[in-house]
Amino acid sequence: MLSKSEGHAHEEKISSVQLLGAIDISVTKDSSPVQPRNIKFPLQLIGKQYRAFTVSLNDKYPWIEYSQSKDAIFWYYCRHFAKDRKEPAFIREGFRNWKKCYGTKRGDNKLLQHNASFQHSECVDAHAHYIAVKTGTFQSVVELQGSARAKLVKENRQYMCTVCQVLLVTA
Ligand SMILES: [Zn+2]
Repeated sequence: MLSKSEGHAHEEKISSVQLLGAIDISVTKDSSPVQPRNIKFPLQLIGKQYRAFTVSLNDKYPWIEYSQSKDAIFWYYCRHFAKDRKEPAFIREGFRNWKKCYGTKRGDNKLLQHNASFQHSECVDAHAHYIAVKTGTFQSVVELQGSARAKLVKENRQYMCTVCQVLLVTA
């Protein structure tokens, strides 16, 4: 039989599952991202081509979760740490347009696009901070603050430089 406090914790878990829309992915920020490997991912006809989720996406984007029941992906960090939950497709409903998951350009690939967003980098930092506090390895707020964010600013600057160079060459 459950004690009173365990019963309460159980209720809380159920309501957050309902809030987040899928039952077979991480329930709280203490669970790891769910990244199944040894299953057959269903094919989906998109346009004229059959496409599916593949394990390579797990490897390339450690921050995604795959829900087998929904055949859809969710953002792990942003589901648990975003202050205002933009992009409801990735946080509540799940995203399953596989055509937009493999391109090499940010414009064609929702995952690359999200990886380069400020919301995401803020959530990466928030997660690192949460784990550091939880495991007692937390040292300095200043050290942690803006680490992923600072890296992103630098990367976006480099990306813009490359775009400018390409434009100069092709002009
Ligand atoms: Zn994210």
